[in-house]
Amino acid sequence: MIPVLVLNAGSSSLKYQLIDMDDRLVAASGLVERIGEAEGRLVHRASGADELTEEGKIPDHGAALDRVLAAFERTGGLTEAPFAVGHRVVHGGDRFSGPTVVDDDVLAEIRDLVPLAPLHNPANIAGIEVARSRYPDTPQVAVFDTAFHAAMPPHAWRYALPRDLADRLRIRRYGFHGTSHAYVARAAAAHLGRPLEELTLVTLHLGNGCSAAAVAGGRSIDTSMGLTPLGGLVMGTRSGDLDPGIVAHLHREGGLDLDAIDTLLNKESGMRGLAGSNDLREVHARADAGDADAAEALDVFCYRIRCTVGAYAAALGRLDALVFTAGIGENDADVRARVCAGLGVLGVEPDEARNAERSRETRTISADGSAVAVLVVPTDEELEIAEQTLAVVRGAAPM
Ligand code: ADP
Repeated sequence: MIPVLVLNAGSSSLKYQLIDMDDRLVAASGLVERIGEAEGRLVHRASGADELTEEGKIPDHGAALDRVLAAFERTGGLTEAPFAVGHRVVHGGDRFSGPTVVDDDVLAEIRDLVPLAPLHNPANIAGIEVARSRYPDTPQVAVFDTAFHAAMPPHAWRYALPRDLADRLRIRRYGFHGTSHAYVARAAAAHLGRPLEELTLVTLHLGNGCSAAAVAGGRSIDTSMGLTPLGGLVMGTRSGDLDPGIVAHLHREGGLDLDAIDTLLNKESGMRGLAGSNDLREVHARADAGDADAAEALDVFCYRIRCTVGAYAAALGRLDALVFTAGIGENDADVRARVCAGLGVLGVEPDEARNAERSRETRTISADGSAVAVLVVPTDEELEIAEQTLAVVRGAAPM
C-alpha cells in the first residue's frame, strides 16, 4: 500500500481522501464542516466500514484533523503515517508552476500570496500546518490550482493596465481549476489514444465554479478565470466577465460600497442572480415550467461558453477535441448540446444519442467523422493531487 492523504482545507471545512496509490483506489474519504462554529460535523467513509458521523464543536483545523485521525483509528485504513500528504492550495501566484514539497520557505511564500487569495490561502496554510505538526516526518506537498496555467504566454495573462501598478500589485491572469484541467486533458488524450503533446484541446470545467482552458501540447495557453476565480464564464453565483465600468456604476448609482459589490458579484450573481438558483437542475426545472428568466439564464450561460470555445479555437489555431467536465459538464446533456450547437463552424458535430446517454465513464459524444472530438471526462481532482504528490516525492519531473 502507498497511502497518500489528500487534504483540501477551506475556511471552515476540511475535505480529505486517502488514496492507495498502489492501485489508485480510494481507501477512505470524508468531510469536516463548520469548523469554528458552535456545532461542527464530521462524515467519514472508509471502505469496508460503516459510514461514521460525528457532531460537536470543532474549534479549529487542528481539532478537525485530530477528529479525522481518530475516525481512521476506528475504521482502519491509516494505522501509520501516510507515505505523503498532498494539499490543495488555491493560489500559487507566479511563483509556483508545479507541485512543491513544503518546507518553511515554501510555507512563507504561500503566506506571501495571501493578498491574492484572502479567503483560500489562509485555510490551505492551516491545513498544511496541522498536517505537518501531526506528521513531522512525512513529506507534505502543495498542489496549486494555478500551476497548470503558469506557463501561459504574456499576451494571454497580461491585462491592459499601467505596467508598474499591475506588476507591483501582482495583477495578471492566473487562472484556476488547473488540477482539473490537467487531469481531464491527460485523460482525454488517453481516451483518444493519442499523445497529449500532439493535441489541441479546449477543456470546460463546468461546476459551481466554471472555467475554460485552451490546452496545446499538454500546457494551458489561456484560461477564462483571471486574478481571482470571479472572471470568465457565468457561474453558479459568480458573474464571470463584466464591463469593468459596471463596478464604478454600481458604486455611484447603486450606492454599494466595495465589500457589497464584491459580495454581489461573487455570491449573488451568475445563475442565482439571473434565475434565482445556482443549481442548474433547478434552473432547468424552472425553464421547463415556463419561467422566462430561467430560460434566458440558460441561453446566457451556454452562449458565453460557446463564444469562449470559439475564441480558444482561434488562440490554438486548430481544435482537436472539446472536453466537458465537472457537475454540469459531466451530467447536463442539454447544456452540452446547446454549447455544441453553434460550433459547427469549427467542425464540431455532436451525436444526439451519444450525448443523451448517461454514464460515469469517459466517453465520446461527437459523431463519427466529426472533425473535433467531443468528450465527457469525469474529473478527479483528488486523484490528480495524489498523482502529482507521489511524482514530486519520488523525484519525478513535476507536471
Ligand atoms: P463544485 O464546483 O462545487 O465541485 P460540481 O462540480 O459538483 O460543483 O457541480 C455543481 C453543479 O453541477 C450544480 O450546478 C449542479 O446543478 C450541477 N449538476 C450536478 N448534477 C447534475 C445533473 N445530473 N444534471 C445537471 N446538472 C447537474
